[in-house]
Amino acid sequence: MLFLLTSCLIRPTVLEPAPKELQSKLKSVNWDVVEKEATEILVEYIQTDTTNPPGNEIAGAEYLSSVLAKEGIESKIVLSSEGRGNLIARLSGSGEERPLCLLSHIDTVTYEAEKWTHPPLSGHVDEQGFIWGRGALDMKSMGVMELMSMLLLKRNNISLDRDIILLAVADEEDGGTGMQYLTEHHWDELNCGTLINEGGLGLEDAIFPGQNMYPISVGEKGNVWLRMIAEGNSGHGSTPRRNEASEKLLRALEKIQAIPETTYIYPVLGQFLANVGAHKGGLMSMVMRHPGLRNLLVKSKLKANPLTKAAMMNTIHLTGLGGHNRPNVVASEVFAQFDCRILPGVDPQEFIAELETIVGEDVRFDVLAARRGNQSTMDDPVYRALARYAVAGEQDAVAGPVISVGFTDSIYVRPKGTKAYGFMPVLLNEKEMNGFHGVDERISIENLRNGTRKLYSAIVEVVSE
Ligand SMILES: [Zn+2]
Repeated sequence: MLFLLTSCLIRPTVLEPAPKELQSKLKSVNWDVVEKEATEILVEYIQTDTTNPPGNEIAGAEYLSSVLAKEGIESKIVLSSEGRGNLIARLSGSGEERPLCLLSHIDTVTYEAEKWTHPPLSGHVDEQGFIWGRGALDMKSMGVMELMSMLLLKRNNISLDRDIILLAVADEEDGGTGMQYLTEHHWDELNCGTLINEGGLGLEDAIFPGQNMYPISVGEKGNVWLRMIAEGNSGHGSTPRRNEASEKLLRALEKIQAIPETTYIYPVLGQFLANVGAHKGGLMSMVMRHPGLRNLLVKSKLKANPLTKAAMMNTIHLTGLGGHNRPNVVASEVFAQFDCRILPGVDPQEFIAELETIVGEDVRFDVLAARRGNQSTMDDPVYRALARYAVAGEQDAVAGPVISVGFTDSIYVRPKGTKAYGFMPVLLNEKEMNGFHGVDERISIENLRNGTRKLYSAIVEVVSE
């Protein structure tokens, strides 16, 4: 039985330890000094208002540029539209490889200040060692980790086999216009071979209590945003008649609700689970590696969590309804709005065509957005280095690849042949996670310090000659 099972097992990723000469390059850094510096920079960066809308990212770009200038690193600011600043800074390497790009977004989402313990733009540092403010997690902290990595590469005279480009862009949270603009108008100078961006991050107790999980995003689902519209006769609310818009919409919605939910563990997720199981060892190692056993024993648990469930399927999410809103008037047009997210490999047009067949001719779709998901290979030195340093020094921790359910700016660069990996090297508990787009966003100084160390170490491993 065991023999038969092993024939179709997924192998967990094995991470080799970092070579000795590399470890000495990393030892020269005084992390106490880095911690203090990174904290000061993050506080000032949070205090620089880049709330989107309106964004005004030029203020954030100018701030980062001033920090780089003190170190003798030149940068330039490109405007994607008025006030929407995007920063490009470069450390030159030997050009053996295409550049490694470190991407973050400057803008932050809005906030309801009255609900916060400390004002969202204060950058308040509390006695427990947390830095508070909008962007503390999403994603000014990672912007600072990337910036610090640039400073450290320069200070430590690391000779580079490629250019390192720091990119801090506008408008990720609202329209993605910053990175889109750079991809369309400045690609010749960027030409990122690999890109590190937000995406995955470390979570405490995510599957097994006590185990820290570090998912690294290697791909992103595509998005299909639809407005389903029904038209019919208008009239007086006192008299129900046939051929009314709301009735048609309701029937179409019932058909969509009746679509069976198909979840599956796609290869990337399978690899992640194999890594988790291998780390756990024993029977769990076998279960997590074997597709059949895994479906039987683990899938239901994954389906119970909305996030992991969404990761295993093409979602058709009804996010709103609209139309004429007077109770005594029959609306001649009503609509339902959907945010659908499709796994890499699914064609958006085919997906829409299937929906059209299901709902029939009583309604029509306006397509607001239709974009493919995409994915980078896991067989890559940058991915491996991120995975290695994600778990470095931790007893019960595991790293592995995932496909993000939402998209980031990485989705624009993969079609250019760039390998993009989403990973913010921090470890958060559930309470801290609520800070993303929520109230009381904050990051511990410990996370800022460790994150900078992990990111810098991974970069040095990959690019130093
Ligand atoms: Zn973000």
